[in-house]
Amino acid sequence: MPDAPFRLDNSYARELPGCYVAWPPAPVQAPQLLYFNRELAAELGIEPGAHDEKELAALFSGNALPEGATPIAQAYAGHQFGNFAPQLGDGRALLIGEVIDRHGHRRDLAFKGSGRTPFSRNGDGKAAVGPMLREVLVGEAMHALGIPTTRALAVIATGEPVYREETLPGAQLTRVAGSHLRVGTFEYFAARDERERVGQLADYGIARHDPGLAGTNDRYARWLGAVAERQAALLAQWMNVGFIHGVMNTDNMSIAGETIDFGPCAFMEAYHPGTVFSSIDRHGRYAYANQPVIAQWNLARFAEAILPLLADDADAAVDIASDILSGFGSSYRRHWLAGVRAKLGLHAQAADGDSPDTALAEDWLSLLQAGRVDFTLAWHRLADAAEGRPGPLRELFSDAPALDAWLARWQARAEAEARPAAQRAQAMRRVNPRIIPRNHCVEEALDAASGAGDLRPFENLLQAIKRPFDPDPALARYAEPAPAAYTEGYRTFCGT
Ligand code: AMP
Ligand code: MG
Repeated sequence: MPDAPFRLDNSYARELPGCYVAWPPAPVQAPQLLYFNRELAAELGIEPGAHDEKELAALFSGNALPEGATPIAQAYAGHQFGNFAPQLGDGRALLIGEVIDRHGHRRDLAFKGSGRTPFSRNGDGKAAVGPMLREVLVGEAMHALGIPTTRALAVIATGEPVYREETLPGAQLTRVAGSHLRVGTFEYFAARDERERVGQLADYGIARHDPGLAGTNDRYARWLGAVAERQAALLAQWMNVGFIHGVMNTDNMSIAGETIDFGPCAFMEAYHPGTVFSSIDRHGRYAYANQPVIAQWNLARFAEAILPLLADDADAAVDIASDILSGFGSSYRRHWLAGVRAKLGLHAQAADGDSPDTALAEDWLSLLQAGRVDFTLAWHRLADAAEGRPGPLRELFSDAPALDAWLARWQARAEAEARPAAQRAQAMRRVNPRIIPRNHCVEEALDAASGAGDLRPFENLLQAIKRPFDPDPALARYAEPAPAAYTEGYRTFCGT
């Protein structure tokens, strides 16, 4: 592709020999562009209009790689549902290179569904249209909600069948990520006692994500702290929009602090801390309310993997790691409470400290749980109540006295702040989304795309989820919860 509008760099391939296998994408028979993220492309410095659809399909199918591409399959391990798998790796993905975006940030470009690699085990290395468009929708929703996330740049229909429980149309996605360093990347080399590689990877990660720590003596300990802090902030954001990742294995946790690997993820509808959608999560390990605990567990696996870097003496290293990780809980709660305060329309910490606000928020959630109230809708309608219109919120609750008692407490707390009610309501509407990718809408869109090849429902839904805070009446159908019976029976799959 001589006139490729962008050139890829390859710092991972260049600086980390031994951490990957060079591997080409499988040729695609009849690539056809299903989705191209023009907004993201512009951010990456890819000239709009420099390529027609056919050329984009060739580029992002891998049939004509962008200039400078060096496709590699990255090695990584991972704890899957608590059990260590020493070799996972990119079984159906390839890192094709990196771009420096308009803000000067290095971003990975990776294919998913690009064919078998040496890490494929029994898998076919392929992906299907439905799960790849799902990754587009959820990634764009997270981005629109202001949550750090990997995003899809393009989806190509391969024109080839993929065999799962049924025969499905094949697809390939191009993902943009802050990096693909996972907790499992470090575990892979730690498990092989390749301490030097662990150090090289850590220095690479520091240079890329926390350059301020580069070269300092205590950089690895401080880096562990920085990685943990990012996770704490991320998890708080997930929890405050009701996002359930579904498969928080250590190979699916990014050191960059982004949401990554959208397999069986879904948004909660009626509030319940034990909500699980993933068909393989039988014991609820990755249930909604467990997510912060699991993040901390994953960070402990990360700390173990880099332990020899923290101190020469093993006991001293354990002490350093424990010290840092013991702060995760309070850091998470701080982020969560800051988010919740904004959702409640509260400006600042109250004079009497955090506890009353925590109790206020927890009692609200208990009310939602007791009444099986839709999480998103309830938060959104709380803004109406802030303006003295509690009617729409009341409709969601059967226990009106309990709600009213809570509303009186909340009102008293809110009114202690000087902000006028209309301003408070406005601020609340900027943080409590009206539109999330609701499961029934997502499934409807994917069924149409995958079945009849009709992309309109997908495109309409995508336009809606990109405007989560928009009151436009035309988007009303995307703000409605599914019938409770639908959500009860809703199951997600790993999308393999
Ligand atoms: P995931 O469930 O996407 O986090 O993937 C877990 C592991 O399984 C990773 O090593 C993937 O590369 C691998 N994997 C998932 N699906 C496939 C597939 N269809 N073919 C080959 N490897 C796969
Ligand atoms: Mg994964």
